[in-house]
Amino acid sequence: MSLPLITDLARDELAQWCQAQGEHAYRADQIRKWIFGKRIDNFDAMTDLSAALRKKLAESFALFSSRVAARQTARDGTEKLLLELADKETVECVLMREEDRRTICISTQVGCGMGCVFCASGLLGLSRNLSAGEIVEQILRLDRLLPPLERITNIVVMGMGEPLANLPNLLKALASLDEKGGMGLSARRITISTVGLPEKIRELARQGKAYNLAVSLHAPNDRLRNELVPVNERIGIGTILEAADDFFEQTGRRVTYEYVVLAGRNDGPEEARELAALLSSRNAHLNLIPMNAVSELPFHDPGADRLRVFVDALERGGVTTTVRKRKGIDIDAACGQLRLRNK
Ligand code: SAH
Repeated sequence: MSLPLITDLARDELAQWCQAQGEHAYRADQIRKWIFGKRIDNFDAMTDLSAALRKKLAESFALFSSRVAARQTARDGTEKLLLELADKETVECVLMREEDRRTICISTQVGCGMGCVFCASGLLGLSRNLSAGEIVEQILRLDRLLPPLERITNIVVMGMGEPLANLPNLLKALASLDEKGGMGLSARRITISTVGLPEKIRELARQGKAYNLAVSLHAPNDRLRNELVPVNERIGIGTILEAADDFFEQTGRRVTYEYVVLAGRNDGPEEARELAALLSSRNAHLNLIPMNAVSELPFHDPGADRLRVFVDALERGGVTTTVRKRKGIDIDAACGQLRLRNK
């Protein structure tokens, strides 16, 4: 039997454990500082704790539950890790370097149950949710790739899985980062991307935190969205937009709509018109993601010229549009691809 993962405990849970050992509750913050701030990799390195407490920690908890099964570095400095979890399942996470930002992309589930037809993560279906600690662990592993003075500045929850289908564990993991002893990474630097689960969007809004919401729209009408995002049949675009509007109203955070651009499938003039009709009246932002090729799948990037025409039509239609910057194109950049190759 493996030991429980220490990062599965929230700050107050760790404080309670410390008290149960006859220690002060504030020891929890000391322990957390070593884990989140000082990048140690064993309990014995926690030199401001007594030898007895360090021993107890080591007997009671695992500091990490995964091993790095693969690591890829792209020419632009993007790094991708494939982590093998205690039960041999694997998940991917990515570090992207820009001038003034260090953004990481993390996963919330092993596989995915949403079945979007262009996505590599869903090809093998859903295995299970990640625990809060397993989500935190991706952040810690990626943080340890940075040089001593660099820190993670932003998190996008856009890796494998549907984050809102594992909301309690995700919220626990993210809260841990911003509590005392954590990484000081606040909600406004974190973006959660969802296929669009209306009730869960409302639940996220009710947290009273400034998380950014990104909704994966991918089609401007239900007929096309049902084809590309099969779970849409049970939901429908109208319900999702309503929930996203409520999210904006409640949090004041402008919602981003993501739209994977699939050559010849969702990028014609009619789609641009319909999309503009949906979004131009909303305080929304559209982020186009040119299809990242997945060898098993029959969808393609539209190419620069076709994409330009689509963007121009959207902007004429009154939609603020950006195109997602490509990162790590020479490694298996599309989420789920590295895991797929290692199966
Ligand atoms: N389940 C969440 C997170 C998915 S990954 C969601 O649906 O939003 C983040 C984004 O990448 C989503 O918009 C997803 O649809 C998109 N995506 C998935 N596969 C892709 C691919 N091969 N090329 C481009 N974007 C892709």
